Amino acid sequence: MIILNGKEVSEIENNKTAFFCDKFFNLKKRLPTLAVVLIGSDPASVTYVKGKKKACNAIGIKHVDFDFETINERNLRELVDKLNKNDEIDGILIQLPVSGFNDDFITSLINPEKDVDGFNAYNIGKMFIGNTAFLPCTPKGILHILDYYKISTEHKNVCIIGRSNIVGKPMAGLLMQKDRNATVTICHSGTPNLKEHLLISDIIISAAGSVNLIDASMIKKGCTIIDVGMNRIPDSSKKNGYRLVGDVNFESVKDKVYAITPVPGGVGPMTISMLMRNTVNAAFLRNYQFLPEHKYKWK
Ligand code: NAP
Repeated sequence: MIILNGKEVSEIENNKTAFFCDKFFNLKKRLPTLAVVLIGSDPASVTYVKGKKKACNAIGIKHVDFDFETINERNLRELVDKLNKNDEIDGILIQLPVSGFNDDFITSLINPEKDVDGFNAYNIGKMFIGNTAFLPCTPKGILHILDYYKISTEHKNVCIIGRSNIVGKPMAGLLMQKDRNATVTICHSGTPNLKEHLLISDIIISAAGSVNLIDASMIKKGCTIIDVGMNRIPDSSKKNGYRLVGDVNFESVKDKVYAITPVPGGVGPMTISMLMRNTVNAAFLRNYQFLPEHKYKWK
């Protein structure tokens, strides 16, 4: 059984992003810059934002912080408009969800050229029709893990559990493109026969947020599992009183799979890593109209 070590892949990708940051600094004499907007004090959002700023600092991306306890629609529109027009801001991250606002409304305010989360309908639409776009970070990170471990999706049955706009739907959109050539099934809470779909799947991508959703009886021998779920379960041995687990019963499936991502240390680190890459890509595209990976050789 292969453990798909997202932490290791993310470190490689972060080193590459740091190399691109240096190149950008040499050209522009400033660092790629991410505006980070946090509204409210939801503990999970605070933790995610802290992790993203830490990654910016480690890689060499400047972050400009905007923290509000609450904000009204007019002030939010004004803030995002200012960030959209500010030439020194390359990417805009508004940590979702924002209480009182619909996610789609928030993402629609961001200039698609600065939409480094890849959530704006323009970028999602471009991705679905097979054009180059900023890709949502979790699905993009999953593709990097699969590529790193040389797990092809060509001619494979891939089952995705979850139809959210940030994981399930874009993941399906990417894997159905000709370059990935997978046969994709999406399951959700309205799917009556999840097990039937899983048993014929070569690759399972679970983004349900449901503990112990999948065990060995539900999977085909030799399949690959990407466990996106991040569920907190009480654990008195931990300082914070909980630990993170995925959707998959790891102990049950571990001897039956070809490969699996652990939780933590699988998909999670890749999501932040791809946000960093999208930010540097946005800096190059806006200022120089090329992607750094097309121009600079790394290693
Ligand atoms: P979400 O918006 O809550 O969507 C969950 C999806 O799973 C929904 O489509 C839901 O179906 C489906 N679902 C839930 N329980 C199910 C079940 N028992 N059987 C079949 N389908 C089921 O969640 P999300 O934002 O996509 O996130 C999903 C999970 O991934 C969460 O645990 C989240 O914390 C984690 N996550 C991790 C990362 C990372 O970087 N590792 C990034 C993003 C999300 P309905 O549509 O019918 O409700």
